[in-house]
Amino acid sequence: MTIITRFPPSPTGLMHIGTARTALYNWLFARRHGGKMLFRIEDTDRARYDTAHVDAIINGMKWLELDWDGPVVSQFEQRNRHADVAHELLKRGEAYYCYCSPDELEEMRQKAMAEGRPTFYDRRWRHRSAADAPKDIKPVIRIKAPLPGGTMTVADKVQGDVSVAHEQLDDFIILRSDGTPTYMLSVVVDDHDMGVTHVIRGDDHLNNTFRQNIIYNAMGWTQPVYAHLPLILGPDGAKMSKRHGAASVEEYAKMGYLPEAMRNYLLRLGWSHGDDEIISTEQAIAWFNLEHIGQSAARFDFAKLENLNAHYIKQCDPQRLINLTRPFYANVPHVTLNDEGLARVRQGIDELKSRSKTLIEFAFESAFYLKSAPIDLDAKAQEILQKADPAILKRLQDDLTTLPEFTAASIEDICKKIAQDLADGKLGMVAMPMRAALTGRAASPSIFPAAAILGREEVLRRLRKT
Ligand code: GLU
Repeated sequence: MTIITRFPPSPTGLMHIGTARTALYNWLFARRHGGKMLFRIEDTDRARYDTAHVDAIINGMKWLELDWDGPVVSQFEQRNRHADVAHELLKRGEAYYCYCSPDELEEMRQKAMAEGRPTFYDRRWRHRSAADAPKDIKPVIRIKAPLPGGTMTVADKVQGDVSVAHEQLDDFIILRSDGTPTYMLSVVVDDHDMGVTHVIRGDDHLNNTFRQNIIYNAMGWTQPVYAHLPLILGPDGAKMSKRHGAASVEEYAKMGYLPEAMRNYLLRLGWSHGDDEIISTEQAIAWFNLEHIGQSAARFDFAKLENLNAHYIKQCDPQRLINLTRPFYANVPHVTLNDEGLARVRQGIDELKSRSKTLIEFAFESAFYLKSAPIDLDAKAQEILQKADPAILKRLQDDLTTLPEFTAASIEDICKKIAQDLADGKLGMVAMPMRAALTGRAASPSIFPAAAILGREEVLRRLRKT
């Protein structure tokens, strides 16, 4: 049997991280078993439909580097097929045309409320003939739910056996009076038609499962395997939302997280493999299963995500890291992206990596390689240079001009010599103003290798200009 999962987002705005995690789990499960993950846009809510929302999800998937099999399917485009199934259910006696007057409806609503039932219809209406309906009342099609007395059980891979009393299941509408199918019907027909074998989704859909199974049973279709994932909570234990900071994939991309860090983080947020925290995507594909999805809601932990991101920045191929950082330089003043500067970043990359937890930080840390004299100095750098001994700065310029070889080691040696001659051997008295002049900051990567990477000419230009 080929395993077929699906990713069926409703395009309502940005891609929520819960949606991203659902996509990831479906993707991993399909890849783990050499199966397929299908992509369906649940776009039947035409009032809210906006192609920008669809694009946001597709872009989110692309950023996360999660691919899918086959085309992106539009649920709305299948609406005639959904309506056909409603009529097929009618033919089989599994559904019926239902109508009632507003007064009858109100009466039932009151009764249901008093009895604590969710149902606003009367099963006796099952036996009315559509032909008898008053002209001004349009019938809908309702499915026949199992009669009170029994229970329905779903064997969920995450939640275990979950049961509901038949009393809780209403004869819900599958086709509206205007002939449009309801969401409950569309999902089942699409999942069946697409051959979906495993439904992995948020547990906010657990209640729908019982209703959806009524349709599967009525059509004689095989139910898929279900795995309902607990919600993602914010650090305070409330449902993760904008209030907690970033709640969408797009925002994490903008904050400079790497897609592989996000995947690793979302994987661990709800699934475990012993105590492993760092799990590459290759490992995840080899290990992922439904059995180790946690039953309780996980809390989002920003510090953990940041640590993982720092790890993946260190692992990142240098050229890729630079490419990923490019857009982030737009936020750093006085930076020009030319080949010479980028080559310097490339040379200094090991240390830059270890100083950066996000791409924003990487851009900021590496910016001094991409500037040209005179460079901007922050307040601390200005203060250091004001306090610096002018004789030391002069000696630095002279000695660096004549230094035979311009390497990290020879620069360090000459600075030590200057410190001995002019500062009682205190290297900081030389290195600190040098760092301030070369990077514009009081903190930077090790200054001797950085100076060697900048090269003699640029170093002297920066020293002279300050
Ligand atoms: N469209 C639904 C959502 O975005 C998913 C439905 C499902 O997985 O069955 O929440």
